[in-house]
Amino acid sequence: MIHRKFRHYKKKHQIKAGNDYLVMKLSEELGEFVQAYIISKKQCAKQKRLTDRKAIANLTEELADVASLTMVFTQENDLDLEKIFKKKWIDTTPKGFK
Ligand SMILES: [Mg+2]
Repeated sequence: MIHRKFRHYKKKHQIKAGNDYLVMKLSEELGEFVQAYIISKKQCAKQKRLTDRKAIANLTEELADVASLTMVFTQENDLDLEKIFKKKWIDTTPKGFK
C-alpha cells in the first residue's frame, strides 16, 4: 500500500525517484522527526512550541514518514525488511546481553 502510494506520488509530481532521491528524502524526514522531537521537549524557540497533544501527533507523523520511506527503499531494492530486522535484532545476541 505505501509503495503504491509512493509510486502514485512520484508520477503525480513527475519525480524521477531512484535510490539517491530515497536516501535524501529519508534524511529529510529524519531531520523533521528530530525537529519534532526537539519541539516535543520544548527545547525550541517559544514561537515554535505546540501543545503536548499536537507535539506528539507531529512526532508520530514524522516517525511514520521515516518508517514509510525505509519500507519504500527496501521494496524498491528487493530487500526483505522483516528478514533484515530478524537477522539484526533477533538472531544475534550482543555480548553481555542476558
Ligand atoms: Mg515529514
